[in-house]
Amino acid sequence: HISKLPQVEPSIFSVMSALAHKHEAINLSQGFPDFKSDQELIDLVSSAMNSGYNQYAPMAGNLELRKAIASKFELLYNSSYHPESEITVTAGATQAIYTIISAFIHADDEVILFKPAYDCYEPAIKINGGKPVAIQMEAPNYGVDWGDVASKISTKTKMIIINTPHNPTGTVLSEKDMLKLQSLTEDTDIIILSDEVYEHMIFDGLKHQSVCLFSGLKERSFIVASFGKTFHNTGWKMGYCCAPKELMVEFQKVHQFNLFSVNSAMQKGLADYLQEPKHYLELANFYQEKRDYFLSLIKDSKFTFKPAQGTYFQVLGFEQITPEKDVDFAKRLTMEKGLAAIPMSVFNVDHTDDKVLRFCFAKKNETLKRAADILQALN
Ligand code: PMP
Ligand code: GLN
Repeated sequence: HISKLPQVEPSIFSVMSALAHKHEAINLSQGFPDFKSDQELIDLVSSAMNSGYNQYAPMAGNLELRKAIASKFELLYNSSYHPESEITVTAGATQAIYTIISAFIHADDEVILFKPAYDCYEPAIKINGGKPVAIQMEAPNYGVDWGDVASKISTKTKMIIINTPHNPTGTVLSEKDMLKLQSLTEDTDIIILSDEVYEHMIFDGLKHQSVCLFSGLKERSFIVASFGKTFHNTGWKMGYCCAPKELMVEFQKVHQFNLFSVNSAMQKGLADYLQEPKHYLELANFYQEKRDYFLSLIKDSKFTFKPAQGTYFQVLGFEQITPEKDVDFAKRLTMEKGLAAIPMSVFNVDHTDDKVLRFCFAKKNETLKRAADILQALN
């Protein structure tokens, strides 16, 4: 066989965005804002380019940026990561995730992940010869059954991947969940890959439970983050990861040969922009208002929902509207009604939970209004 990933097809995000484009539909499918990144950040990046940040950055990233990231961890979580040895700037969270998995997963290692799961974890595990071990979270609460996790941990378990706030469900892990994860893995070498790209998008006073808040987890964990999510520029593909030094050494052995280093001017611009914590602290309110606005517009529709606790995605149940499966309904909604969303079932074990769609509300209010008008009119 030539293919190392015979089952892999174009991602649902590419498929739905292309369909939205073809039918000129409002695109609430793939997660990206339809508004501009802050002009101040754009100006900082251009001025970095103009002042000479145009050659290779250091392998681990611009040191000013790594220091700014370390300060953010101090400020938000009272947690220290050494800028010189425990932080690496990456080409988005996706590259960090792929590189972490490549650096640690040997053939036949097991990696526990929770379904519905963001789509980039499994192919990275498989291409490295690892075995994904899926735990299904059940609708509508999508909570983790820690008894199930305990039963699936074995001597082969090398890594557990968590994601909070969670894409696609919009749920967040509680302190209790994190303590459970800590107690289940405490006396093991299991590495935790904690995908925290939505850390700043958390609502209703809930607190983001970063793995770095739990000393028994932090010592074995990678945290992955995305500037694209935080600063409204997903196309820049900028992110980073943090981990204790011994783990970061292994990460960088791979990073230096699959990338070497990341866009220099953007790193300098982001380093300057991060000096002002309000740039990320204001995000929770900003997106909570968008979520509330969107939900207020569709509250009398036939869709059912629980408000997202975090992320910029809202899951809507459509059982009262059509008996179709989510994949079919998502396509019809795009082609016939002009509104694109993401079907939930593609992220699940055996494609279960096929009566909900995920809508991205990182959009201008006028876009949300036009989308809501379409949803309201569905009977
Ligand atoms: N993890 C999750 C849960 C995501 O939703 C995304 C992006 N949508 C990523 C990782 C990848 O982030 P990036 O665009 O920075 O590669
Ligand atoms: N993370 C984005 C989402 O969940 C998609 C990014 C991508 O297209 N790979 O919509």
